[in-house]
Amino acid sequence: MDGDEIDIVPAVEGGSGDVRMRGFRERTPFERARELATGSAAAEVRSEGVFVGRSAGRILAADVASEVDVPPFDRSAMDGYAIRAESSFGADPLDPPSLLLVAESMPGAPAAVAIGPGEACRIMTGAPMPAGADAVLMAEDAEERGDRVLLKAAVTPGKNVGRIGEDIARGVTVLRAGRRLRPQDAGLLASIGQDPVPVRRRPRVRILVTGNELLPPGEKPRAGMIVDSNSPMLEALVARDGGELIETLRLADDREAIAAAMRADDVDVLLCAGGSSVGREDHLPLLLAELGELVFHGVAMRPAAPAGFGRIDDRRVFLLPGNPVSCLCAYDFFAGPLIRALQGMEARPPYRARTFRLARRVASMLGRFDYVRVETGGSTGEVLPIAASGASLLSTTTRALGYLVVPEDSEGLAEGAEVEVFLYDDGETAR
Ligand code: AMP
Ligand code: MG
Repeated sequence: MDGDEIDIVPAVEGGSGDVRMRGFRERTPFERARELATGSAAAEVRSEGVFVGRSAGRILAADVASEVDVPPFDRSAMDGYAIRAESSFGADPLDPPSLLLVAESMPGAPAAVAIGPGEACRIMTGAPMPAGADAVLMAEDAEERGDRVLLKAAVTPGKNVGRIGEDIARGVTVLRAGRRLRPQDAGLLASIGQDPVPVRRRPRVRILVTGNELLPPGEKPRAGMIVDSNSPMLEALVARDGGELIETLRLADDREAIAAAMRADDVDVLLCAGGSSVGREDHLPLLLAELGELVFHGVAMRPAAPAGFGRIDDRRVFLLPGNPVSCLCAYDFFAGPLIRALQGMEARPPYRARTFRLARRVASMLGRFDYVRVETGGSTGEVLPIAASGASLLSTTTRALGYLVVPEDSEGLAEGAEVEVFLYDDGETAR
């Protein structure tokens, strides 16, 4: 059993004394910790304008209505000839009538003249319809002969003509506030001339990873030294949740250096990974209490029990345990929800849930929240809790299909129970 999985006696929140080498006397109940971490965020959502070409992926901050018609003019839906439909009535392919070619309309270069009876205008897809014409005869049904065009088929009025506003009519609300903009949404916003696009401001985030034993990602682990696996993971999680990463810092367990990094006031959220537990080098909780306020430290959950949260001025500071599984879990239940809530998104991890049957029972403890990685196993539609559940074994999360939770008011889940599994991904793989 590693440090993050020590059994705990849940009690009231608080506790900012020096817990180093003594352990937690009391722990904040999980749901209370969640409330404390994300509570007032919804009232702090801010917005800003961004260039439409940078708007995809952002959360729209206001309803957007179109001030224009798209397309802004009647246009041809075919390459062919714009005519008055009546000129083609009764056209006989064996004895085709002919019209005088008087103009050409190209996309971006409309015809300058109106089309009269007995006249035609060569026209390309997307080009404006010339005045006077009300239909387009497709090129396949026509034949040019010198300055005339033979009509081998008839068209009805409106044929092959795209009407002004047929895509988007002026005044219509095209997208609603709160939507995460899809790539095609950005295209549509550009099509109505929207710029800037009102979006929710992204919380600015610094990642601070501490530990004398840490090598930077990219290096090979060696005796006594491990590679920092938390910062690549946290960077991806922050990006997923819409945070704007300002910087990742990796520091030794050096009180002064850590304090300096915690004082930097250019972010909204500071994610500290490591040094949050009860070891001799675990400076973060005391520093946070000194520089600001330690709101909670020690949560009745497994793993991630040493998680903590506080504030320094306007910054929210999360203390994430260094053990990578705990780090992932504490991020997903406390920090990620706050980063999301600051953008007006739902404060919960964004994993899709699916129902499975539990192939083996999961034991828990009343008052403790459990995060249980599961893999597919047993028969179809069943999941197995991953037995080696140490918080230091990151491979348990890469093997896992997802996780399930045992809420604090439950003593465990019975074998055969229907459970909701939160899937780590949507199953997309590449060959
Ligand atoms: P700490 O929270 O600093 O007490 O660390 C708990 C455990 O997690 C220790 O075994 C650390 O070596 C390990 N650990 C801390 N930070 C990281 C990191 N960034 N990447 C991988 N393991 C870490
Ligand atoms: Mg450490």
